[in-house]
Amino acid sequence: MWGEFKLGGHVIAPGHHALVELPVASLLSHAPVKLTARVWRGKRPGPCLMVTACLHGDEVCGAEVVRRVMMAPTLKRLRGTLIAVPVMNMTSFMAGTRYLPDRRDLNRLFPGAAAGSLGARLAKVMTGELLPLVDAVIDMHSGAVNRGNLPQVRVTSNDRASMELAKAFNPPAILVSSTREGSFREACRVAGKPVVLYESGEALRLDAATIRFGMQGVFSVMRHLEMLPPRKKGEVRKTPTVVCRRSAWDRAPLGGLFTPLVGLGKAVNEGDMLGFVGDPFGLREVPVTASLSGFVIGRSNEGLVGEGDALFHIAMTSDPTEAEEGIVESGEALPAIPDEGDDHPVHGDVFSENP
Ligand SMILES: [Zn+2]
Repeated sequence: MWGEFKLGGHVIAPGHHALVELPVASLLSHAPVKLTARVWRGKRPGPCLMVTACLHGDEVCGAEVVRRVMMAPTLKRLRGTLIAVPVMNMTSFMAGTRYLPDRRDLNRLFPGAAAGSLGARLAKVMTGELLPLVDAVIDMHSGAVNRGNLPQVRVTSNDRASMELAKAFNPPAILVSSTREGSFREACRVAGKPVVLYESGEALRLDAATIRFGMQGVFSVMRHLEMLPPRKKGEVRKTPTVVCRRSAWDRAPLGGLFTPLVGLGKAVNEGDMLGFVGDPFGLREVPVTASLSGFVIGRSNEGLVGEGDALFHIAMTSDPTEAEEGIVESGEALPAIPDEGDDHPVHGDVFSENP
């Protein structure tokens, strides 16, 4: 039956859309906290896809992707139902912070509780009111502040339905990773809803590649689910996706000033120098080396680092060069992939230990 769709007191008929506000809690100022969703009903039947962003309030790229998706004229041809939640965590979004006002991480509070803290209640609205209505989820995240991510999708291992959606999303890279207890992705998995987690860019900053791959990904998943008409022949542009099952962070060998030498998407071999950290007095300079062969999917952009800080996230692959070529082929406007190694100012013998 392709009939009415009920959410938060709204009854939305086929061919209509609505802005729905779901009450969550009140703040100490007495201001209400709501979870706002926009719902589109196609005239014709089809599945229900939910696209969410800003679970972490400072990961603003996803909100921009969802905003642009909502404004796209192609939604007129929608089959089925699209639920867009551009800002899942509004109080953190307003403060421009990752965490909730009580300093907790919403992504550790799922499935949530109706009588719990603000975050637990938010999680409960997501799992109790929205998740039961949907067939699939796209959840958008970014790196932390000053930590950029190559556009990538994360899926849980042995989750075939999610992997199918991840491939339909067609990002430069898919990373198979386990879910954490209390995360939204885990809640989707438990509810039996395929979910792709899009990770791209950095917190509090919009970038063209993240927005472009994000929008293309959402529309591509919608076409895969037959929620939008297929592309005409000749328009179809499948780009290579590298699937990785292992990744690791290479960390600062000492505290000091950090100079990266390789950018996002670059191929690296185990032992390659990725950058260097020097103390401010010119006494020591220590290289940061790759602990495995693969390509760079995340990088710190901080000039000042502490010993042990995560600097390079490397996704392991058997053929790093092929992966890099695929990434270059997949997008002309990837986040800057500079060849910083060319103007590395330091000579090799500086790396010996000082007494
Ligand atoms: Zn996040």
